Amino acid sequence: MGTAVTTTYPTAGLPYPEDAPVSQALFDRAQAIVPGGVNSPVRAFRAVGGTPRFMASGSGPWLTDVDGRRYVDLVCSWGPLIHGHAHPAVIEAVQRAAALGTSFGTPTAGEVDLAEEIVRRTSIDEVRLVNSGTEATMTAIRLARGYTGRSKVVKFAGCYHGHVDALLAAAGSGVATLGLPDSPGVTGAAAGETIVLPYNDVAAVEAVFAAEGGEIAAIITEAAPGNMGVITPRDGFNEALAEIAHRHGALLIIDEVMTGFRVSAGGWAGLHPVDADLFTFGKVMGGGLPAAAFGGRREIMSRLAPAGPVYQAGTLSGNPLACAAGLASLRLADEATYKRLDELSGTIGSLCADALAAEGVPHRLQYAGNMFSIFFTDAEVVDYDSAKTQDAGAFKAFFHTMLANGVYLPPSAFESWFVSTAIDDAALDQIAAAAPLAARAAAGAES
Ligand SMILES: *Cc1c(COP(=O)(O)O)cnc(C)c1O
Repeated sequence: MGTAVTTTYPTAGLPYPEDAPVSQALFDRAQAIVPGGVNSPVRAFRAVGGTPRFMASGSGPWLTDVDGRRYVDLVCSWGPLIHGHAHPAVIEAVQRAAALGTSFGTPTAGEVDLAEEIVRRTSIDEVRLVNSGTEATMTAIRLARGYTGRSKVVKFAGCYHGHVDALLAAAGSGVATLGLPDSPGVTGAAAGETIVLPYNDVAAVEAVFAAEGGEIAAIITEAAPGNMGVITPRDGFNEALAEIAHRHGALLIIDEVMTGFRVSAGGWAGLHPVDADLFTFGKVMGGGLPAAAFGGRREIMSRLAPAGPVYQAGTLSGNPLACAAGLASLRLADEATYKRLDELSGTIGSLCADALAAEGVPHRLQYAGNMFSIFFTDAEVVDYDSAKTQDAGAFKAFFHTMLANGVYLPPSAFESWFVSTAIDDAALDQIAAAAPLAARAAAGAES
């Protein structure tokens, strides 16, 4: 049964009360029958405490929860919504597609259109559409193993590539937020083929390839990490990975599920071209519906079934609604879009960092294109170990005060913040009003 929303709150003259009775009631129902009450762990607010807000609707830069409170959204569904919520062109495309039928289990024109748009924006020759980023990285790994005839994979601590067994080692993001060890249920056989190295450390990569390069199928890395907070690859890091991998007959897989079509028309590689063999995409390319992809050099992609022997399939892959939303979203995303996203992330990051500086709260504001996050630490953050030097108590106080003042941040200190072009002056004013209060709360928080 739906829950009627009767309460309305002002968008100025906040803060909101701490309790969220309608969200709490839904969360109670959910917890009785859904593990932890959520369908993806970070949604549960475990790292920050309190009641996760159940959202009722989104419009432009705003989210409205079931208690009738409005928030400026700096999560954007964890990245996909570069144009904000319910953009008319995206909604119209989905409605038009839905009226023609939701799924056929046959090829459709929309898949070809979306594939062409992705290929046009990137350096890849061929692409395969799937349903989630997890599927994309899982298959990229399988393809790399099938192509090279080798089994080992190198990944970096703190990089998240979805919940693929072989990649759930030191996996950042939700795992970092919850302080979990590597997941039970992942067998020694699956994890044993994964070599985890510190991020940004070329010497560590050289050393491992010198020792066992002949057994390594691929290196996988986030194009620029956003799943341990935002960290920029050191100059030449991705290029060095390509060079080392290729020298040893291994492949480089660049995971652009988060960065792809968000930080530029061509993703991170659009800003910093890299000679990778396979790329993975997701989030923005689905326009808020489930769609993801992987692609790369023709010689490798042609090993995929039915062209080749490496198997991969999906009942709903290339779903007409998802393709329509993704294509509408990408077609809207022109140079002006990316310029605006860059400006907004600069403005909002500075607003928050200036507020923290005024209160003397140790912090570092870090960017990868228009993705950014604030680390509550003095230390230079270049890898997972340095990301973990954060003051969790300060983040928690900052988060909750922003929430109470109508700004929705990721409920974890290990996540990127995301902007949309829908952010307008009213939304910026709300952030500007909330940030000093949140900074004061962070200053007063116990570590
Ligand atoms: C979100 C993400 C994934 C996983 O995508 P899902 O669609 O959640 O399965 C993989 N890699 C990166 C870099 C991501 O940010």
